[in-house]
Amino acid sequence: MYDRLIFNLSDEDSNIVSLPENNFPISLKECLKNENRRDENLSLPVVSEIDLLRHFIHLSLKNHHLQKGFYPLGSCTMKYNPVINEDIAQEPGFTNLHPYQDEEDVQGMLEIMYELQEMLLRITGFSGISLQPVAGAHGEFAGMLIIRDYLRSKGENRKKMLIPDSAHGTNPASATLAGFKTVELKSDENGEIDIEDLKNKMDSDTAGIMLTNPNTLGIFESKIEEISQIVHKNGGLIYMDGANLNALMGLVKPGKIGFDILHINLHKTFSTPHGGGGPGAGAIAVVEKLKDFLPPYVVGFKDGKYFLDYPSNSIGSLHSFYGNVNIMIRAWAYIKVMGKDGLKEASQMAIINANYIKKKLENYYELPYKTETMHEVVFSGRKYKKEYNVTTLDIAKRLLDYGFHAPTVYFPLIVSEAMMIEPTETESKKTLDSFIDAMIRINDEAKNKPEKVKNSPVNTPVSRPDDIYALKKLDVNYYGQSK
Ligand SMILES: *Cc1c(COP(=O)(O)O)cnc(C)c1O
Repeated sequence: MYDRLIFNLSDEDSNIVSLPENNFPISLKECLKNENRRDENLSLPVVSEIDLLRHFIHLSLKNHHLQKGFYPLGSCTMKYNPVINEDIAQEPGFTNLHPYQDEEDVQGMLEIMYELQEMLLRITGFSGISLQPVAGAHGEFAGMLIIRDYLRSKGENRKKMLIPDSAHGTNPASATLAGFKTVELKSDENGEIDIEDLKNKMDSDTAGIMLTNPNTLGIFESKIEEISQIVHKNGGLIYMDGANLNALMGLVKPGKIGFDILHINLHKTFSTPHGGGGPGAGAIAVVEKLKDFLPPYVVGFKDGKYFLDYPSNSIGSLHSFYGNVNIMIRAWAYIKVMGKDGLKEASQMAIINANYIKKKLENYYELPYKTETMHEVVFSGRKYKKEYNVTTLDIAKRLLDYGFHAPTVYFPLIVSEAMMIEPTETESKKTLDSFIDAMIRINDEAKNKPEKVKNSPVNTPVSRPDDIYALKKLDVNYYGQSK
């Protein structure tokens, strides 16, 4: 019965919910004008508390989620979010805050933001930071405006931004929105930046480069110092896409190895659930010379108080108020609980887990790049497509039958039939082994029973929804019995 909509479960007789007495001093009739009042009661389902719970638990089990099973999405770090962070973020002292409150009244929240700023600066090795951007892409956009304004302050109006062909799609989008013309950089046969290509393209009209490190193949750009020299010698700046910092915490400080700006997705590395597209927090950190261009940040303890302030050449506010503070609280709690050693260990475990999967699967799935990888590994399924007409999408779908979410597929774009696997640090060897087992079995099925893979999934409530149709014609309304 819980397969039905909650409206179908509705039964006036099951109304055993006890709500507190309404002790609001004036009645609704008094505060609402006549024309704003409903003619009829709102048509809400009436169910008992236990039916309500069962209904939503039932629904939640139809979907795949981290609490239900392994979720190895590469690049996106679908890592486990410790429940203590959720607990802390739900303290009434936080949830009852209002952004219009005077700074005097939100000193506790501002102190947390200040501490988070300081901790992130220590983790990344930069000099200044703003927590205001509300997504990774938003942080990138802020970074692009900072580069633009910094160069303008020196009387330069450079137009081009270099972006590797392995980059996340948001990189060229952010650079374009900020008014730059993007120029694509090639990857070499190791999956790293092609240095010759960089030398040829880094000219006096080039504002800089956007780099992801480790890049989206999971490979650490080993020539970062040479890249830094080439770009800086030509008057450009180096932006790092740090959406995924899961390989670097406690191991590498981007601010100390040549990068000028970095954005950090707090909602990826620093543990906030982010399936379904948000909300996020894309903190932006910079070296000393760019501090003056940051969006607003919390200034520590002047006259005994914390407050939000703009530096003199700020690119301005990018969002209303402070940004998404609830995500900042989770990141703050996560870092506090983990501590310096804990964060380092998390990155080390994330790297070991990815390399364990890589080693165990490399004899079955093709590795297009043999270079050492860090927290994620990218395989190609082109062999299966060519020889057995089984695509990477089919393999991804079949994984659902085995109880695993698919890895990221068809990204990065430089790998055909790509499968990008990022296990993260919290998964046990047992879980990794059962995932590896499923991948090996699917490899076998693809060769011997390709139809089984092509017709999957069979164990899920819906087999293969038409993604495009769902996107274009999404309709989540309930029209009730009356229509
Ligand atoms: C997720 C991601 C982004 C974009 O972050 P959003 O918060 O989704 O805007 C950018 N770059 C990389 C490498 C990412 O993984």
